[in-house]
Amino acid sequence: MHTIDLRSDTVTKPTQEMREAMARAEVGDDVFGEDPTVKQLEETAAHLVGKEAALFVASGTMGNQVAVLAHTGRGNEVIVDAESHIFYYEVGAPAVLSAVQLRPVEGLHGPDAAALAAGAVRGPDIHFPETALLCLENTHNRRGGTVMTPDAMRQVYLAAREREVAVHVDGARIFNAAVALGVDVKDLTCWCDSVMFCLSKGLGAPVGSILAGTGEFIARARKYRKLLGGGMRQAGILAAAGLVALQTVDRLAEDHAHARLLAEALAEVPGVAVDLERVQTNIVLADVAGTGMNAAQYVAALREKGVLAVTFGPHLVRFVTHRDVTRSDVERAAAIIGKAGVS
Ligand SMILES: *Cc1c(COP(=O)(O)O)cnc(C)c1O
Repeated sequence: MHTIDLRSDTVTKPTQEMREAMARAEVGDDVFGEDPTVKQLEETAAHLVGKEAALFVASGTMGNQVAVLAHTGRGNEVIVDAESHIFYYEVGAPAVLSAVQLRPVEGLHGPDAAALAAGAVRGPDIHFPETALLCLENTHNRRGGTVMTPDAMRQVYLAAREREVAVHVDGARIFNAAVALGVDVKDLTCWCDSVMFCLSKGLGAPVGSILAGTGEFIARARKYRKLLGGGMRQAGILAAAGLVALQTVDRLAEDHAHARLLAEALAEVPGVAVDLERVQTNIVLADVAGTGMNAAQYVAALREKGVLAVTFGPHLVRFVTHRDVTRSDVERAAAIIGKAGVS
C-alpha cells in the first residue's frame, strides 16, 4: 500500500514529458542572456499573464523577495495580509534583504480589502515610514486556498494606485484561482504592477517560479536576482520543464474536485471541522480540536495509516491535492480518515 502524500502540491515529480523536454532543451549561459529556452519560458509566461516581461527565478520566495527589493527603498513600509506567505513563511527576508518594515493587516484578503488597504497607507507625518508597496496573495495559502475575484483585486489596486503605492501579487497558485473562477488569468493579473507564480506547485515542474511586470521593472529585478545569487547559467534545462508545466493549467480543475471530495468526507468525521465554503481550490484546512488530539498528534496518526498532511496551527491540519494523487488515492485517503477516524 503506497503512502498518499497530501502535504503539498510541491511534492509533484516531473513527468516523462518534462524529463524528455529537459533532455532535449537548447541551452546557453543565461547570465549572458544566451539561454534560448529560458528566454522562451520568460516570453511565454509574460504573455500568459499579460505583462511586458518576465524573469525565471529559483523559487517563489526568491520571486517575492526580488519583487520587494525592486519596488521599495530602505525604511519603506509594505502592507501585507496578516496571514500572508511573505509575512509568515519567508524567514523575515524583507527586513534582511530590503530593510523594509512589513505592516500585517488582518482582512486584506477579505471583503473589506480595499478600505483596509486605503486606511493602511501612511500619510505625510514626519514620524511615519513611507508606504511603497502592498502585496496580495491569490490563492491564499494560510486562508485555505481561497480566491480573490478580479473585482476585489481591482478595487485594492485602484485604492493603492490612487495613493501611489505599487501592488505585487504573490500568485504562487494564481492559476488555481483563475481555473476556480473560470476566468482568464489576465483578468486577475491586470490588477497589479507585478506578479509571481510558481511552476513547481500544482503545475508540476521540478524547480522554479516566474516574476512578471513591466520591462523596466523586470530589468531591475534581474539585477536583484543576480545580487541574491540567483543568476543561473544553463538554466534552460529547468525552464524546459516549466514550459511543459504551463501547458497543464487546465488540469488544476481536477485537483479542485479532489479537494472538494476530501473536504466533504472530512466534514463528516466526528470531531473534525471543515469550512466547506472555503474549500475553493486544492487546499483543505481541517480543525481537529474536537478529536481530542492536537494537529501534530493527528498528523502522526494519519501518517501511521499511510496519509501524509502537515500541521498548520495548534489544531489545524492542511491537506493539498495535486497531480500525483489520483481520484482513487483521494477516495482511499477519505476512507482512511473517515470510516475509522484515526483513533
Ligand atoms: C509556496 C508559496 C510561496 C513560495 O514558494 P517557494 O517556491 O516554496 O519558495 C510563496 N507564496 C505562496 C502563497 C506559496 O504558497
